[in-house]
Amino acid sequence: MQLLSYTEAHHRFRKRLREFLSTEVSPCVDQWEKDRIVPKSVWRRMGQEGFLCPTVSADYGAIGGDFLYSVIVSEELARTNHSGLFAQLHSDVVVPYIDAFASREQKAKYLPGCVSGELITAVAMTEPDAGSDLAGINTTAEEDGEEVVINGSKTFISNGINADLVIVAAKDPAVENPYEALSLYIVEDKTPGFKRGRHLDKMGMWSQDTAELFFTGCRIPKANLLGTKGQGFSMLMQKLQQERLVTSVCAQAAAEMMLEWTTNYCRQHTDAAGKPIAREQAAQFALVEMATDVKLGRTFLDKLIVEHMAGENVVVETSMAKYWITDLAKRVSQQCLDLHAEFGLTEACPVARAFRDTRVMPIFAGTNEIMKQIAGKFMGL
Ligand SMILES: Cc1cc2nc3c(=O)[nH]c(=O)nc-3n(C[C@H](O)[C@H](O)[C@H](O)COP(=O)(O)OP(=O)(O)OC[C@H]3O[C@@H](n4cnc5c(N)ncnc54)[C@H](O)[C@@H]3O)c2cc1C
Repeated sequence: MQLLSYTEAHHRFRKRLREFLSTEVSPCVDQWEKDRIVPKSVWRRMGQEGFLCPTVSADYGAIGGDFLYSVIVSEELARTNHSGLFAQLHSDVVVPYIDAFASREQKAKYLPGCVSGELITAVAMTEPDAGSDLAGINTTAEEDGEEVVINGSKTFISNGINADLVIVAAKDPAVENPYEALSLYIVEDKTPGFKRGRHLDKMGMWSQDTAELFFTGCRIPKANLLGTKGQGFSMLMQKLQQERLVTSVCAQAAAEMMLEWTTNYCRQHTDAAGKPIAREQAAQFALVEMATDVKLGRTFLDKLIVEHMAGENVVVETSMAKYWITDLAKRVSQQCLDLHAEFGLTEACPVARAFRDTRVMPIFAGTNEIMKQIAGKFMGL
């Protein structure tokens, strides 16, 4: 039984996207991994083809689709087995802040570029001394006439090098309560006082341009405030459900891919005695256990997608899914690597990169410990 109601239009979109990725992305991935970044031109190609911001209104040039189009993009990008072209972050995490909270003027100014790929976005919350605890943010935003002056630094910002627009979380130092001090601001590339720091060298996600950002006396127009001043926390909370769901979709798709590659490998390769690896009881048990977990994850996830699309509050369940499914991807990556044995440690084996890239999933978008804490709180524990 299919829980998600994909239409013919969804299927056509998936087919077109898969063809696009197989011709314009997959052949370039090895080079991008070496370069540690993807070229901006591929973002624009994604935009031209209608694959960015699929849920934004057609008034801004997007396809005006439902969340299933976002699910399709996340799943198909997972099949490319790289994390550099982080279009899900742009389309389903950052741009939704603009779509939901921006003024009519801000939407008219920014959304068409976000949809076309001319504007790549990032969201900057994390700081060297503030990760899980957003209340500990030190970056300040102080009004000065018709301008706001931002001072502080951010770290581990995805799309940090390529970003043309950054949504920055900063506090008003005059407001004591940290939950009322936080606001979100749109900072454009090339604004004086906004500089990129190091392009971070990570164990995985090599082609993803994760970076430090610095704001030193960075003056932006007051009109670049996103939503209401002092409502930053509430805006972030409203959008975190979708961020965690999208992370779960990516992790689930990665687990399914790794299992498929490994099952095929075990069928096609033989042990020293000439017997297919898949006929060994130990391999069979490992594959069956992973397949069971992957099916459990898929059922839970699809149910949550349906509920999210119906506008239901599934904060607890998305927190559970984020921790369980990203941990599932971590377990599956480990077992799949073991089943490939020495070949699994070579770059020729796709599991090697997937193993590195899925490792971060339990850490970003809210750590899995924080997910359990949120679920525990809502369960009244
Ligand atoms: C590749 C990558 C991309 C990222 N992209 C972005 C981005 O685009 N924008 C952005 O703003 N940030 C981004 N981040 C940052 C990410 O969101 C943070 O790493 C994450 O929030 C955790 O913060 P931290 O690393 O400072 O860990 P800490 O918060 O210091 O946590 C350290 C450990 O303590 C645990 N812990 C902390 N507090 C609690 C608690 N209250 N209860 C129980 N356990 C706790 C954590 O679970 C963790 O195990 C990215 C990170 C990575 C690695």
